[in-house]
Amino acid sequence: MTSAVEVTAQRLRDRGERVTPARLAVVEVLAGTEEHLSAEQIGERAEQVRPGIHRATVYRALDALGELGLVTHVHLGRAGTTYHLAGDLAPRHLHLRCSNCGTVYDAPGDILEAARRKVQRELGFQLAPEQVALIGVCKDCRP
Ligand SMILES: [Zn+2]
Ligand SMILES: [Zn+2]
Repeated sequence: MTSAVEVTAQRLRDRGERVTPARLAVVEVLAGTEEHLSAEQIGERAEQVRPGIHRATVYRALDALGELGLVTHVHLGRAGTTYHLAGDLAPRHLHLRCSNCGTVYDAPGDILEAARRKVQRELGFQLAPEQVALIGVCKDCRP
């Protein structure tokens, strides 16, 4: 089995990009969790995975991987921004954030498929619901 780290390293090489310890550490951290980590938390864990890496280098690696399309980020509102491996390296899902308790839930990636198609057809607009958290009230907080 090929790991996400190996796949990403290969994709970096294919694009003539540098394969750096910090970039690999970021991918390793993201591949090893289903949590919604902030940039700070990714920095902390990357330092644990590869001691000696500077935090600033990790942030730069995160940005670079984002620009290269290998990592996506999701705006979670007040809960900040979180990161996932892009495309086939992470299961596609949407995010639901409870406006009361702030918990972020994962939802299947296709729940807005009909809406996405309709908006595309009627307005020519390409919706990207995976880039934001949808706001609502979770079942624990519902009155
Ligand atoms: Zn809630
Ligand atoms: Zn997620």
